Amino acid sequence: MKTPSQIDQQNSNIKSQHHQLLDEESEKINKRIILEIDIDQNMCKKQTQIILNDIPIYFPRQPYEVQKIYMESVIKSLNKKQNALLESPTGTGKTLSLLCATLAWLTKNRKDQLNTEQPKNIKIIYSSRTHAQLKQVAMELKKTVYKPKISMLGSRDQYCIRGDFSMIKGNILNQSCHKSIKMNQCQFYRKDHLNKFAYNYSTLINSLEETRQFGQINRLCPYYFERERLDFADFILIPYNYLLEQDFQNIVDIENSVLIFDEAHNVQSAAEEGSSFFITHNNIIEAEKDLKKWIDELESVSVIQDQLKTKLNLVKILYNLKEYKSILITIKVFAQYLEKLKKRQEFQYKESDENYLIMNGRQIQFIIFENTQDKDNTFRLWSDNSQTNYAKGVNKNNFEKYLQHCSILIDIMNDLSSNQGNYFEYWYKFMRNVYNLIKIEIKREKQKLSLESLSNEFNQYSLAFILDQSNQLSIHMWCLDPSLAFQRLSKKGFHSMILTSGTLTPMTSWTCELKQAFDIQLVNEHIIDLDKQVRVFQHQSFDFSYNQRNNEEQIDKFGITLLKLCQIIPNGILVIFSSYTLMNKYKNVWTSNKLINQLNQIKQCFWEIKSSTDMLQVFEKYKEKAKSGAIMFAIHRGKVTEGIDFSDELCRAIFLVGVPYPAKLDKRLLEKMDYLDKLYNDPEFSNQQRIKSSEWYIQQAIRTTNQAMGRVIRHKNDYGIVFLCDRRFEEKDMKLGLSRWIQPAIQPWTNNNDLIKQTKEFFITNISNQERYRKEQIDQKPLEQIEVKKRRIQFQGLQNEDDYQKLRNVTQEKMSRYYETLTENQSTNIKSYDNNVYLPEKQYQLMINSNSQKEFDKQYQQSNDNLTQIQQISSKRCFNNDNEYQQKEKFEKKKLCMTLKNQK
Ligand code: SF4
Repeated sequence: MKTPSQIDQQNSNIKSQHHQLLDEESEKINKRIILEIDIDQNMCKKQTQIILNDIPIYFPRQPYEVQKIYMESVIKSLNKKQNALLESPTGTGKTLSLLCATLAWLTKNRKDQLNTEQPKNIKIIYSSRTHAQLKQVAMELKKTVYKPKISMLGSRDQYCIRGDFSMIKGNILNQSCHKSIKMNQCQFYRKDHLNKFAYNYSTLINSLEETRQFGQINRLCPYYFERERLDFADFILIPYNYLLEQDFQNIVDIENSVLIFDEAHNVQSAAEEGSSFFITHNNIIEAEKDLKKWIDELESVSVIQDQLKTKLNLVKILYNLKEYKSILITIKVFAQYLEKLKKRQEFQYKESDENYLIMNGRQIQFIIFENTQDKDNTFRLWSDNSQTNYAKGVNKNNFEKYLQHCSILIDIMNDLSSNQGNYFEYWYKFMRNVYNLIKIEIKREKQKLSLESLSNEFNQYSLAFILDQSNQLSIHMWCLDPSLAFQRLSKKGFHSMILTSGTLTPMTSWTCELKQAFDIQLVNEHIIDLDKQVRVFQHQSFDFSYNQRNNEEQIDKFGITLLKLCQIIPNGILVIFSSYTLMNKYKNVWTSNKLINQLNQIKQCFWEIKSSTDMLQVFEKYKEKAKSGAIMFAIHRGKVTEGIDFSDELCRAIFLVGVPYPAKLDKRLLEKMDYLDKLYNDPEFSNQQRIKSSEWYIQQAIRTTNQAMGRVIRHKNDYGIVFLCDRRFEEKDMKLGLSRWIQPAIQPWTNNNDLIKQTKEFFITNISNQERYRKEQIDQKPLEQIEVKKRRIQFQGLQNEDDYQKLRNVTQEKMSRYYETLTENQSTNIKSYDNNVYLPEKQYQLMINSNSQKEFDKQYQQSNDNLTQIQQISSKRCFNNDNEYQQKEKFEKKKLCMTLKNQK
C-alpha cells in the first residue's frame, strides 16, 4: 500500500505523462496511457495455471472440462474480435471461468500493447441485470489472482450517503445533490480528495456495499468516488441499463471495450425497455405548473434572468420571456388535448383494468404538431413577431430550438431556483426522445428513402395511449425492436461482445432479434452427474392450456398428486404457475376444499407476492422453514424464478404447472408479434435472418421454462427433481428447445405409483451422498476465510495480522472511552434505542459525524500509541470494517442505552 505522498507523486507522474502526450505530434494525441493489470503473485503460487490458445490463465483450482471449454470460447472471441453466445448451466462456475479468461487475456493484451506504436486501452465492461448479481461477480473476482482497477457504477439512489437525503430518490435526489454541491453543502463531496482516493483504492473495493461503507468511513461521496474510478478502471461493473438505455449510453466510453452481458436471457426485453419511453397526463399537467413557477421567478429575479440570457447568448439564441410563455402554452394545449382524448370511444367501455388506443409510432409527431397549437390564439401570444413563438405549435422546423430553450432553462433553474422542475424535465425528455426519431426521419427524407419502411426507426415503435383504472391517461412509445439499442452500441466500436447465461437456448433467436453476428456459440454440458443428481418427469395428461386451466377437477387432481409427493420429497419445493391469476385460482380452490390445510401440515405454504420488499420477507421466512419442509408457490418471470437463489435444501423439487406462454391478451405482446410478422414478410429484409411471430412466441415459453428448471441445480453437488405438469411440454418445438443438458434426464410420468417409488429412491441415494459434499465444503472454507482476512488487512492499510490485531485492541479501547464521555445531547440520541431496538445505521452515523466526532478525534489524537498517522486513520476505519467488532460495539451500545434509560 502506498503512502499519500507516494500516491501524489504517482498521480502527478501520470498527469505529466498526459501533458507530454498532448504536446506531441497530432497522430500521437490519441495515445493513452496503458498500464499492466496487477496480479497477486502470492496467490499465483497457490493456483493452477493452464494455457489456452496461447493465453496463460490462473484458475483457483484445476478447472473442470466444461470450464476449460467455456474459457476457450471466451479467448477465441476476444482474440478474433468476434461476438459470442455462451450458454453454460448454473453451477458450472461460469462467472469464475469468464473472469479468469477475460482478465488473463487482458493481462496479456496489455503487455503486448505496451510494445506497440498506437496502443489500444482495452477495458472489460461487465454488465448484469441487478446490483445483487454484480455483487456475486465482485465476490468471484476476489478468488482470482487478477487485481484490475475497478469501478462499479450505480445511481445516487444507491450510493448517496447523506442522511437527510435518505427519503428522496430519482430526479429529485439528483437535483438536490447538484444544488448542494454548487452551494458547498455536502460534506461528502470532497472534490480535491476524489482523485487520490480513486487511485489509491482502484483495486480493493469491489461492491456497492463496500463503496458505501468506504464513503462513510472516509467521509467521501461513494457516487462520485465510483465516477472518478472510471478514469482508471480496467474492469467496469454496471447494470444493463447503462449500456442499453439511451440516457446512460454516454457515461461509459465503450470504444475498444469488451462488453459482457451476464444473465443475458433478459437482454432482449431490457433492450426494448431501454429504448421505450412514456409520459403521463398528470406529469404534463405538473410540468405546466413547474414551468409557470419558473417563469414567475424569471420575471421577478433579475439575477436568474441575467444568467439565462448569458447562457442563451452563448448558443446564439436571443432571450425573450414570451418564448418561455409560449412553451407553457404548448404544454397547456397538449394537456387539454389529452383530457379530451379520454372521452374517445375506445376508452368508454372498459373491458379490463386498462384500456388502450394503439397507433403506429410515427403518429406521435403529427399528434404533437397538431395539438401544441393555440389555434385560435386564446392566449394572445401570436401578435408577437418572434420567430420562435411556439404557441403557433411545435413543428419540424422549430423543434430543435424548442428543446434548446427547455434544456438551458432546466440547467439554469436547477442551480438557482428554489422550485423543483422535475415534471418539466420529464416533458423535455419525452419531447427530446420524439425529436431524436424525427431527426432520423428527416435524414431519410433528404436521402429520398421511404418513410414507411421498417428501417425508419419510427416504425419500430408503437404508440399506445393507456387509460388506467384511476382514469389516468399515459402516452407510451413502445420499442418493438431490441436491435435498436445494440445498433447504437455497435456504432461506438466495441472490441467484442459476449452474451452469457445458463439459459440462452434457443440460440437462433439472438442473431434475428439483436441483428448482431455471433460467430462463436457454445451450449455447454453440465458439471453434475446427470444420472444421479437430476430427474425430470413429464406428465402425460395434465393440460393447463387457456381453455382447461379453470377445470376444477384437474386442479383437485394436481393438488392430491402434490400432497402425495410432498410426503416423500425432503426440504423445500417450488410450484410455479404461469400467472398470478392462475396461482390465485389454485389457492382459492384448495382453500375451499381444505387441501391447503393438509399441505400445510406436511410443509408450510408460502405464496409469491408482487411487492419486492414484502417478497424478501416471505423468502426469509421460507428459508427458515425450508429445511424442515416448505412449499413456495410462485409465478414464471417473477422474483422467485429470476432473482433468488434456491440452492440445496431451498429447492429439492420444482413443479411447472402449465407451459409459460406469454399472455396473448397483452397488447404490447400483440404489437411485437405484429411487428415481427411485418418484418418477416417484408422483401426489404429478405437478406436478413428473421423470425416468425409464432416461432418467437414459442421461444419465449421455452426460455422461461429453461430458466425455471435451472433453479433446481445451483452447484456441482446440488440435486433435485423437475415435474413437468403439462402434456404440452412434449410438443415437438417445445421439447427440442429445452436446455440440452437436461434433455437426457426427461422420462415419462405415466403412473403415480412408479413415480413415487422412483422419487423415494432418488432422494435416499442423494441424501447419503450429501455427507461427502459437506466435508468438501468444510475443506474449502478456510481458504476463502484466509483470502477475506488478507484483503481486510490490506483495506486497513496494514502490513500483517499482528498490526491488525493491535489496531483492533486500540480501537476498542478508544471506543469504550468514547462512550464514557458522551454528552447529554448524545445520550438523547441514544435514547431511541428504547425497547432493545438498535438505532438505525443512518442515525448512528449522524451521531458519530456530529460534534461527537470532534470529541472523539481529540481523544484519539491524545492517545499515547505509537502508530503511524495512516494507521491511526485506519484504526478509525476499523469500527466499520470489522464485523466482529461491530457486534461487540452494538452490544456495548445497547448496554449503555439500557443503563441510561434506567438512570432516567
Ligand atoms: S455528493 Fe454524494 S453524498 Fe453528497 S448529496 Fe451528492 S450523492 Fe449524496
